[in-house]
Amino acid sequence: MNRGLLIVLSGPSGVGKGTVCASLRHRMPELVYSVSATTRSPRQGEINGINYFFKSQEQFQDMIANDALLEWAEYVGNYYGTPRDFVDRTLASGKDIILEIEVQGALKVKQKFPEGVFVFLMPPSLDELKSRITGRGTENADVIDHRMTVAVEEMNLLQHYDYAVVNDEIDAACQRIQSIITAEHCRADRL
Ligand code: 5GP
Repeated sequence: MNRGLLIVLSGPSGVGKGTVCASLRHRMPELVYSVSATTRSPRQGEINGINYFFKSQEQFQDMIANDALLEWAEYVGNYYGTPRDFVDRTLASGKDIILEIEVQGALKVKQKFPEGVFVFLMPPSLDELKSRITGRGTENADVIDHRMTVAVEEMNLLQHYDYAVVNDEIDAACQRIQSIITAEHCRADRL
């Protein structure tokens, strides 16, 4: 049996990775989603085990010590990481899995899985990105400023990715990512 594809969807905070990923999962129910662990507090409506596995600092450090994370990163004061076992088991079963993660973590995954498909979601412009981060209304001004500074640095990492997809419109962005996944399955060197 062929192994599944490891797809990494990354890009700056506020670009709409979560929304695009949710829409993509709706369009492609066969695509498995990797639920991350985080030390961040749940936002309203977020459910443990569905959106994230919400962990204490100590629990997260234990996961690192036990090598239970494929990658992890500190991002704006919180830790985020991808549980390793679930990814390995999904790929071994021949299913595709998508990781929606920030850029430092994506680069670490690339070192371990160079055969993965790395997709960088781009904002139409930096002004548009700021209005998306501000418009979400879940963060205070300091956090927004910090996220914008990080986002500008993150844009410079585009060169490490296989594909750049502009998130000008959700359906169009999802359509492009679906096309990428289809094309990757047709690559002669994956047969
Ligand atoms: P948020 O706090 O807005 O849910 O997520 C903040 C950032 O962390 C987003 O860019 C999100 O993609 C990223 N993120 C979520 N899960 C992971 C993970 O497992 N690893 C890494 N490196 N980043 C993650």
